[in-house]
Amino acid sequence: MSVSTVASDQSVCAPLPVLGRDVTVPLVTGGEVTYAALDYAASAPALQRVWDDVAAYAPYYGSVHRGAGYLSQLSTDLFENSRATVAAFLDCREDDQVVFTRSTTDSLNLLAAALPAGCEVFVFETEHHASLLPWKDARVTYLNAPRTPAEAVETLERALAGRAAASGAGGPALVCVTGASNVTGELWPVRELAAAAHAHGARIVVDAAQLAPHHPVSVRELDVDWIAFSGHKLYAPFGSGVLAGRADWLQDAEPYLAGGGASRKVARRADGGVDVAWHTTAARHEAGSPNVIGVYSIASACKALTEAGFDTLVRRERQLIATVREGLAEVPEVKVLSLFGDDAPRVGVISFVVEGWNSSHFAAALSAEYGIGVRDGLFCAHPLVRTLLGGDQQQVGECGAPEGEPGEKSLNAIRVSFGAGTPDEHVERFVRAVKELVRDGAQWKYRTEDGRCVPDRG
Ligand code: PMP
Repeated sequence: MSVSTVASDQSVCAPLPVLGRDVTVPLVTGGEVTYAALDYAASAPALQRVWDDVAAYAPYYGSVHRGAGYLSQLSTDLFENSRATVAAFLDCREDDQVVFTRSTTDSLNLLAAALPAGCEVFVFETEHHASLLPWKDARVTYLNAPRTPAEAVETLERALAGRAAASGAGGPALVCVTGASNVTGELWPVRELAAAAHAHGARIVVDAAQLAPHHPVSVRELDVDWIAFSGHKLYAPFGSGVLAGRADWLQDAEPYLAGGGASRKVARRADGGVDVAWHTTAARHEAGSPNVIGVYSIASACKALTEAGFDTLVRRERQLIATVREGLAEVPEVKVLSLFGDDAPRVGVISFVVEGWNSSHFAAALSAEYGIGVRDGLFCAHPLVRTLLGGDQQQVGECGAPEGEPGEKSLNAIRVSFGAGTPDEHVERFVRAVKELVRDGAQWKYRTEDGRCVPDRG
């Protein structure tokens, strides 16, 4: 497997405490149940430890990089130490930069804005829109969906070799690839893709939005140039994200945002204009007052996952994955979406369709009748989901769309996702709910309201 190995000790840990673990929600059929948050791929609940760390720091909150006061200095230290914690969590190289952003989307847009002139970009059509779309100023080659990890590497090799043949290569190029799919949960062969990119003089950025929360990552071992992830998927939902990696393109680029913090020196010129000397450190792309709470919460989550033992978390998650996949396999009407097949290594993100069911209707029934929160739709990866559904790329499924007949193709899918805070009971309830809904049908009537499928209480 290409994304750093997991140690052989077989112990499995308990779920990590998260906020909301005791929250109960009403059922449309009567009574209340503990909410089963099974939409970690969208946003994971905050780790209790992260919340506690933030609460302990909050009274000491002060302006970062700005003030002479004690709390400002304490906050500045906390902010800068968080950078070091994240660098250690990602096993970055000595001279890599860790830039704090708002999210993965923001990180990839920042990198897109920092591409050197004439840079070509290679991206698989299977990517999340955050990886697919930011490269608007570059020449982009969209690569077809591979059906095996080896085919992914071959496809990239071929595209990069074609580039060399066409232009004599030499110019800058960037490959953007996901570490783990937000649709199938499957791991991509990042190390092999990085080797292929480098062999052809290209660089590579990994969208680790779904990888970093589920799996140890080593920038050094994977030999990738940049990596991006979001705090809110890593149990730190306070509005910060990360772009980490090579300093050179970032140092040479115009600041992502122009303003205070990014500028080292600003002076009026004799001709009335202004001269600006920009920072060459990560601060160059962090203009404005930084989100110290968001950044500190990411560092706290990195520490919590590391201290809990990422290897045992991975083992536990694999058991949850097995429970869900084996349970779904017992229901012939369920089709799990996959690019790389059953044996592919994966994280706790599983998408599926149910024959005879509109996916929005199914997700609404899981919520209203079982207290289970999943997501339905195309998951901001429209080309991939449509390819996996075998559908027309132009069609968009909606709740209430005429897709519920047996044998008909679904226009959208259902996604269940989980992680370090998920108790066994949540995935067991989910499997039971799927079986009951398929066998007995929904207990309630549903209708479409403002584009959402909701229980009909009228
Ligand atoms: N990439 C992947 C693989 C994702 O799953 C997501 C979020 N669903 C993103 C990027 C974008 O993350 P954010 O919304 O935090 O920017």
